[in-house]
Amino acid sequence: MCPRCGDLEYISHILFHCPFATEVWDLGPWEYKLDTSPQTSFFDKLQYSMTQAPLPPFGFTGNALPWICWTLWTLRNQLMFENRHQSAIEVFTRALGALKEWESAQPIKQNPNPKSLPITRDTVGYPLEIICNTDASWKGGTRSAGLAWIFTDFASEELYRGSSAQNFVSSPCMAEALAIREALLQGASLNYRHICIKSDSQVLVLKYSFIRSLLSDDHRNSSGFSPISTTLAFSSSSSFLSCRYTFIPRSLNGPADGLAKSCLPAHLISSPPIVT
Ligand SMILES: [Zn+2]
Repeated sequence: MCPRCGDLEYISHILFHCPFATEVWDLGPWEYKLDTSPQTSFFDKLQYSMTQAPLPPFGFTGNALPWICWTLWTLRNQLMFENRHQSAIEVFTRALGALKEWESAQPIKQNPNPKSLPITRDTVGYPLEIICNTDASWKGGTRSAGLAWIFTDFASEELYRGSSAQNFVSSPCMAEALAIREALLQGASLNYRHICIKSDSQVLVLKYSFIRSLLSDDHRNSSGFSPISTTLAFSSSSSFLSCRYTFIPRSLNGPADGLAKSCLPAHLISSPPIVT
């Protein structure tokens, strides 16, 4: 007979069905408590526990079910053979304490898939390549844009920077495209032969890279791209031996962003756009 409730004692009674065991399981550690009734099998209970994340205050990540079962079992033996009584909360605390101790003793797992970018042609340049960070600042009210570009060499040494402002720019995306165009024209005039354009406009980078791959595959008659984007990207890039486009997060494009913003106010004073 069960030493706690007097019912017939069998393993699932000790672990789940005994009122004392149910009291332990009611303490957590999941948002919804475990169904300890005989209607669910041990397999059902185990499966449920594997789909549940422990609530954050408990401070562990593993599956608590085996630890609570083990503690219920060993403390039942202490009650039987040593007459030592424990409360439900003591059983629960002891189980989670053992789980946390085990987790903290495990070696730190190496992430098999680190989130760092794969090393590809897009992330590794070569010594002759000039990096050009571009950015644009667009004012919707006046439809004017500040454009900026900064050239650096392979060792991140700044070579040249430029900026300009333009009126009648229809959208932020167009402003980014114009910044790239200005950068390419400037780069060509400086006789750079290999250039890598960095822009925080993911749309443009994807589009330009894709068009470029089509052109390099000799699919020059492919359509489906707006003529103006294609013109902006390639009318100015033909003088380079290599020209590629990569995306840079806005947070890493601060200098070009600041330069684009700074050239706009002076431009708006000297040549304000005529708004009809
Ligand atoms: Zn019992």
